[in-house]
Amino acid sequence: MDNKFDIGIIGAGPAGYTAALHASVQGKSVVLFEKDKIGGVCLNKGCIPTKSILHSSEIYKQTLNGDKFGITANNVTLDYSKVIERKNKTVETLHKGIELALKNAKVTIIHGEAKIQDKNTIFCDNVSFNCTKIICATGSSPKIIKGLEFDHKFILSSDDILNLEKLPKSILIVGSGAIGTEWGRIFNNFGVKTTVVELAPHLLPIADTEVSKRLERIFKSEKINFYTGTYITNIQNKKISLSNSIETEPEIVLVAVGRTPNIKEQIDGISYIGDVSGEIQLAHYGIKQAIEFIDGTEFRKDLTPSVVYGSPEIAWVGKREQDLEEGSYKKSTVLISSLGKAHCDGNTDGFIKILSQNNKIIGAHIVCTEASSLIQQLTIAIQNDISTDKLKETCFPHPTYSEGIFEALFK
Ligand SMILES: Cc1cc2nc3c(=O)[nH]c(=O)nc-3n(C[C@H](O)[C@H](O)[C@H](O)COP(=O)(O)OP(=O)(O)OC[C@H]3O[C@@H](n4cnc5c(N)ncnc54)[C@H](O)[C@@H]3O)c2cc1C
Repeated sequence: MDNKFDIGIIGAGPAGYTAALHASVQGKSVVLFEKDKIGGVCLNKGCIPTKSILHSSEIYKQTLNGDKFGITANNVTLDYSKVIERKNKTVETLHKGIELALKNAKVTIIHGEAKIQDKNTIFCDNVSFNCTKIICATGSSPKIIKGLEFDHKFILSSDDILNLEKLPKSILIVGSGAIGTEWGRIFNNFGVKTTVVELAPHLLPIADTEVSKRLERIFKSEKINFYTGTYITNIQNKKISLSNSIETEPEIVLVAVGRTPNIKEQIDGISYIGDVSGEIQLAHYGIKQAIEFIDGTEFRKDLTPSVVYGSPEIAWVGKREQDLEEGSYKKSTVLISSLGKAHCDGNTDGFIKILSQNNKIIGAHIVCTEASSLIQQLTIAIQNDISTDKLKETCFPHPTYSEGIFEALFK
């Protein structure tokens, strides 16, 4: 093999494989190193497997609660091994798709652990690769906190939780970021006794506080137990003491308190993209960084939408109320319960909140079915500086959840 390449990329997660595909379109020779599975955390341990399992959990719950829609299902059974089988198939299908795309793009894939020797040399399995440019996209790993180190049996990471062969009777989730919240909803949908412990004063602390408070209301109505401003003080023989003096004995503990970039130190002359860059740890952020680096297509990093999946979905972009000075902005809120579609679907919980200044949207916060898609409309509006008056000229279809955006513009 000729070991000279225009671009060497370490890590075949969304950031790495996107960089590889875009570089290859530009006619560059690309070598891509992956020590585990193509697709990275996103495809194998993150976005995709969790959303597949979440979907199964929602179907299970909807089936059990079908009565109010006039559908009564008797003897509903849950076979968790089939849930996992479907998840694995979903991952495998997408995995094949990415592999094929990389093959068609003539990207050279090297399966092995790569090391950066200097700004133009990568070593892998004692072979040296000369690259004009090196991109490091090695991702991140679950954060370990003192006293809650993963033993992979009782104290589990978000990787371990995917390997469960059967559902536990009860779980304690430490951390209520996107990962903790989504898994809390998944386990609760499956009927597992679920408790979430959050150190911050509110659940989902990175969100707009009104969103966090709404999530707390939803957790209460869904009977997901949670404690905010609380941390674990002691674990002994699976008995867990919390700082609020409560003691609990869950079957397992999931620690989801963030992720650490897979890097010791950055080397001059190397480009770091995706989770390893230490910036926003979301797949679409890494993808945009890759495209920015390869194609030069810049993007507004402050307009990276965030989504938390489950029912209802939660999504936001731009400024949160707590970022803004009181009285310096306009707030327009529409309750989801005012929308016809929400009543048809039986999903009336939530709101669409638009924050604006001088007729320009600066932030949007949505708790609503399909929030993951709705947020994109507002991201496009903010990014393109479209005024609220101009948006009012847009025709929104009926009955939809997007009408909530339209109504908010007139508030
Ligand atoms: C449970 C969970 C749910 C998530 N859900 C979402 C979601 O819904 N939406 C979203 O946007 N994000 C989500 N994320 C975050 C998302 O998965 C990450 O932001 C994304 O995977 C980062 O992409 P990346 O390419 O930077 O790195 P990764 O996907 O982590 O890929 C890095 C790759 O590099 C490889 N690698 C590392 N070191 C080496 C080496 N020395 N040699 C060769 N290969 C190496 C790794 O094996 C890995 O395959 C979720 C994460 C988790 C854990």
